[in-house]
Amino acid sequence: AHLGILRRQASRESAARTYARSLPIVPVRARGVTIEGADGRRYLDCLSGAGTLALGHNHPVVLEAVRKVLDSGAPLHVLDLATPVKDAFTTELFATLPPALASRARVQFCGPAGTDAVEAALTLTRTATGRPGVLAFTGAYHGMTAGALAASGGARDGGVTRLPFPHDYRCPFGVGGEQGAELAARWTESLLDDAKSGIPDAACLLVEPVQGEGGVNPAPDAWLRRIRRITEERSVPLIADEVQTGVGRTGRFWGVDHSGIVPDVMVLSKAIGGSLPLAVVVYREDLDVWEPGAHAGTFRGNQLAMAAGAATLAYVRENGLADRAATLGARLLGRLREFAAGYPFIGDVRGLGLMIGVELVDPTADTAAGTPPPPAPGIAAAVQRACLDRGLIVELGGRHSAVVRLLPPLTLTDEQADAVLDRLTDALAGAAQ
Ligand code: PMP
Repeated sequence: AHLGILRRQASRESAARTYARSLPIVPVRARGVTIEGADGRRYLDCLSGAGTLALGHNHPVVLEAVRKVLDSGAPLHVLDLATPVKDAFTTELFATLPPALASRARVQFCGPAGTDAVEAALTLTRTATGRPGVLAFTGAYHGMTAGALAASGGARDGGVTRLPFPHDYRCPFGVGGEQGAELAARWTESLLDDAKSGIPDAACLLVEPVQGEGGVNPAPDAWLRRIRRITEERSVPLIADEVQTGVGRTGRFWGVDHSGIVPDVMVLSKAIGGSLPLAVVVYREDLDVWEPGAHAGTFRGNQLAMAAGAATLAYVRENGLADRAATLGARLLGRLREFAAGYPFIGDVRGLGLMIGVELVDPTADTAAGTPPPPAPGIAAAVQRACLDRGLIVELGGRHSAVVRLLPPLTLTDEQADAVLDRLTDALAGAAQ
């Protein structure tokens, strides 16, 4: 049955399908970090619905919240009308926001995907500023609708200007560290002040506190604070895309909490829906000058997703799961770095909290002194496959798909973390053969 399902889906589904290509499993049951396939095999899931499952699969509080709505006779779909479920979700969401934003925030329910909320943020800031331009960073990922796609790294679009993100390992200025971040900030500042570049027309600047799809690149705190100051001085709204970094993932409740910056707009999705589709944009109330219907859509704030989301936000907050992610993440990073020291094809191990990336490189290639070896997507794919054979699901990311990514549920136990490490390091050691 398991192979039949895989074969049928491979022949019926689009050539654009992604995860299903490199992860030939048929999940039929799941609990916490564990997924069970139709073939009876069990896997530790460190993909977590691309970082969606803060509490893992089928957490009891999420199931209970969804059941409560189902059993209550409440309508499941009411467009964007006010409901008790929405009220509870909004209250919980505002309780978690950086206080300086929460005290004067508005929320727009978008949806159902993160990319919809990115579009809403672009429309909002373009309307509020009366300016058309969008600034985004190299290596960014914001989604797959036209505006969000244009703001993602690798895309080319007239309306979006790309600025250098301070990638530490592959620093665009070849220096890395604080110096690289300083040069990246200066570049941004000088472009914003260059009337001829058209950047003074910027409606917003869009940034991920840790780039996820871009290969797990944490933004240095000092650089983010510089970017905040630079945009504030020029009245360019700063949009933090926390679709992947939110809800404790990075070791603080929101990614921006590390640097303490207060963005003008936050784009939220994935974990805020507690494993069901939900996306919102939260912003400073004085930006709320768009007209009714300026960002409409049929599915805005699904009742089940809001109930699951409110339960998830409350659970993460009440149980200190952000702190847990910080502790566990630091341990995993430390152990992986120790291991990597013995393997030249592991170019870099980086991350923040439970967003961890291992970049694989080709150490035999000729490279200029001081430059990292080229990325090795072939080795990364082999490692991903070897992990799957050992019962571990990991994802690949980065511009060349050469970064093995870990995004486990924040509920991972110490024993499960050890098992993840054992399987991953065993798969990596195997790739060295
Ligand atoms: N922004 C970021 C930072 C993301 O990681 C993603 C999804 N990986 C998106 C936006 C788009 O979200 P969605 O896939 O739900 O449209």
